[in-house]
Amino acid sequence: MNCNTTEKNLIFFLENKLDPTVSGQLSDHLKECAHCSKQYDRLQQVMLQIPEMKQSNPNHFLFTRIEQKISANAQEQQQPIPVFARIFNPLIVSVLMIATAFVGLYLFTQTPATGNAESGDQVAVIAGQYEMNTSDQDIMETYYLTEE
Ligand SMILES: [Zn+2]
Repeated sequence: MNCNTTEKNLIFFLENKLDPTVSGQLSDHLKECAHCSKQYDRLQQVMLQIPEMKQSNPNHFLFTRIEQKISANAQEQQQPIPVFARIFNPLIVSVLMIATAFVGLYLFTQTPATGNAESGDQVAVIAGQYEMNTSDQDIMETYYLTEE
C-alpha cells in the first residue's frame, strides 16, 4: 500500500471500518512509513478530542435541537403520502364532475311538462325550503351526488 491510499483510509482504519485485508495492509504500511505513522498519530489525537469537544460545547442544547430537527425531517420524508390522496383524490374529483353533468342532464330531462322552468332545479327548491345559504346548498348538492 502506498502513502496516498494509506492517508485516504486512515480515518476508516481508526473507526475499524476497513475490510480486514485492507486494514492489515494499512497496518503494515504504518510500521514501515514514518510519514504515515505520524499522520496516524495526529488523526488519532484529533479523534480522541471529538467526544470531549461535544461534551464541553456551550451550545450543547443547540446541537441537540439541530440533531432533533434533522431526525424529525428524516422521519417526515420517510412518511409515505397517503395512497388515498395520491391516487383516489383526482379520481373522485373527475367522477364528481361527470356525476354533476349526468345529474344535471337527468334533472333537466325529468322536468315535468306541466311544471314551470324553475322546478328543474330541484336541489335549489329544496334548499330554498330550508332557507339554506349557498355553501349549505353546495354541501347538499355534494350529498345528493354522493348518494347517486
Ligand atoms: Zn506512507
